[in-house]
Amino acid sequence: MKMVLLGPPGAGKGTQAKLISEKYSIPHISTGDIFRKNISEKTKLGIEAKKYMDNGQLVPDKVTIDIVKDRLTEDDCKEGFLLDGFPRTVKQAEALDEFLNSADGKIDAALLIDVAEEFILERMTGRRVCSSCGASYHIKFNPSKIDGKCDLCNGDLIQRKDDTEATVKERLDVYSKQTQPLINYYKNQNVLLKIEGTKEISEVFDEICNSLKAIK
Ligand code: ADP
Ligand code: AMP
Repeated sequence: MKMVLLGPPGAGKGTQAKLISEKYSIPHISTGDIFRKNISEKTKLGIEAKKYMDNGQLVPDKVTIDIVKDRLTEDDCKEGFLLDGFPRTVKQAEALDEFLNSADGKIDAALLIDVAEEFILERMTGRRVCSSCGASYHIKFNPSKIDGKCDLCNGDLIQRKDDTEATVKERLDVYSKQTQPLINYYKNQNVLLKIEGTKEISEVFDEICNSLKAIK
């Protein structure tokens, strides 16, 4: 299955992506994770991406599209994939369609995790991520077993630099202007599945699995 995850920053895309990827045995590809890995390794791409990410802006389309295309040509994507945080602009969505069309493929489902803006700030400022494996926690809604340590790899939990209140507001603005139009884009392709994202993590996951049954 070839899927994309849509929804505002903090909607729970990364959290659900981990669960979906395990259940359906497809790779979870997060452009944000790819950029963060490059930042920590101080690559040329990381240095370039950081300038945008720290301010809550999008990394330019050309750079982002090339990275995703490269990743999708890897062997583990043959049977499907789950894109998290990509596409974020109509241009990226069109480039993805074009790339898949050239191999007679298409997106099977665009899962929109719907969360109203009023919930987002608390989710994002309370988010803690593992500095080692990238797993995502929340100080109140999804705490790790040992304070400050990752349940999966015992790595240190940190707060993302772009999860401060000012940057979150900027990211929400960017989302509504540049990414929200993708909801109609995928609706018009009849692949949009809208999921209520304000319930508990396990309930959101159940709803995702139920809605995917219809298309499998
Ligand atoms: P995204 O990838 O969409 O930016 P995350 O998956 O990182 O979002 O989730 C943002 C924050 O909200 C994290 O701290 C996560 O633990 C928490 N979270 C995710 N899903 C839920 C949920 N259904 N209810 C409450 N908190 C959640
Ligand atoms: P995320 O981890 O999905 O919250 O993304 C963190 C940041 O990485 C975003 O605020 C952007 O600066 C950048 N980013 C991630 N994915 C994309 C994308 N598809 N297009 C442009 N920028 C992106």
